[in-house]
Amino acid sequence: MNILDKVRPNILKLQPYSSARDEFEGNAEIFLDANENPFDNGFNRYPDPYQSQLKQEISKLKGVEPNHIFLGNGSDEAIDLIIRIFCEPGQDNIIISDPSYGMYQVSAAINNVAIQKVPLSEEFTFSAQGMLEAADNHSRVAFICSPNNPSGNALDPEEVITMIRKFDGIVVVDEAYIDFSSTPSFINQLEKYNNLVILQTFSKAWGLAGLRLGMAFSSPEIIQLMNKVKPPYNINILTQTEALKALQKPGKVAEEIQDILKQRDWLINELSSFSQVRKIYPSDSNFLLVRITNAKSLFEYLTAQGIIVRDRSKVTHGNDCLRMTVGTENENKRLITAIKEFLA
Ligand SMILES: *Cc1c(COP(=O)(O)O)cnc(C)c1O
Repeated sequence: MNILDKVRPNILKLQPYSSARDEFEGNAEIFLDANENPFDNGFNRYPDPYQSQLKQEISKLKGVEPNHIFLGNGSDEAIDLIIRIFCEPGQDNIIISDPSYGMYQVSAAINNVAIQKVPLSEEFTFSAQGMLEAADNHSRVAFICSPNNPSGNALDPEEVITMIRKFDGIVVVDEAYIDFSSTPSFINQLEKYNNLVILQTFSKAWGLAGLRLGMAFSSPEIIQLMNKVKPPYNINILTQTEALKALQKPGKVAEEIQDILKQRDWLINELSSFSQVRKIYPSDSNFLLVRITNAKSLFEYLTAQGIIVRDRSKVTHGNDCLRMTVGTENENKRLITAIKEFLA
């Protein structure tokens, strides 16, 4: 696909902001080019606008060259940039499977970009056909989330590939929960499809939601466009250093993931013993979507006990459903105890 054909004309023409650090090349001893305060306190200098060191480490971890990597202020920044690069406000649209992560829709609405929602099946499975049929010649970007939020399941990889191959636009596969899944990432498909964007994040398995660091993996053409449109210093120094530290200890994260998966099994087991629990949807993530009689009253009861889950009863196919994040062993026990009290 010729990616540049899909880009908004004003973005193609855009002369990006050139920062002091962009314009300097070579070995410097004295920086008098960016109007910074010269007294060293660890933060007086602007951060690396392209996060080279961080991308080097992520590159090793993911087996993807740095020119295929974009880092954003959360995945949310990447979502917004993709919409702004490819969709002309008031004219183009995005296609999203429904129910899914709420930010695709909000970002599109902020940018005055229309949304075509295509429902998943009642079991939250995905078929490319429905999405392809919903596309018109103003559909620029399709968002697919796998494993899907709020249902928790990984989508059929064959259907996702069909979508990437047949959709005449950009396909974003949001893999925020991939580290909890037994299905492989689509990252190994990047070489084949230059219209594919994969989103991952440090907010879930990596335990760094407060840092705000999201990753996008894509073709160099798309990564270059994202770099051109992003605010120059979008990842601050603290985030870059803390993420580098975390990347030196992948074993710690791997252990936490194993623990969370064990706890997920424990929760499934406990929840299945309640007759009021009508369905626990299969999960490839760190949360469970649970259909339960009187979900709304249970939600209110839990809230009164100081236990906050997410009421998903209003989303498509989600009636009487609560979404519960897997917590620590102790937190999960307290959740189950509270549900028992409510049902008693
Ligand atoms: C939590 C989540 C994200 C994470 O967004 P960040 O901005 O990186 O914190 C992205 N996509 C989905 C589907 C999520 O559930």
